[in-house]
Amino acid sequence: MKKALNARCGGCGNIFLIAVLPMPLEKAAQLMKRAGCPSCGETKRIFAAASTPIDESGQSAGFEPVDNSVDNGEN
Ligand SMILES: [Zn+2]
Repeated sequence: MKKALNARCGGCGNIFLIAVLPMPLEKAAQLMKRAGCPSCGETKRIFAAASTPIDESGQSAGFEPVDNSVDNGEN
């Protein structure tokens, strides 16, 4: 199954597609380096986010953003 390699913008938190895996790691790294946020234009603070499976229709099956914040589950 193909997977979407996502990136998270350090500027606005937007998550966007960088590459579709499998792809040679060095090429994916190059894409990551060159990537700019399509939402705010940030190019420096682009971080790797979760990769997500792509279903048969070729669309990403949904983002699973990496969230470092701790959710205590308290209301
Ligand atoms: Zn952004």
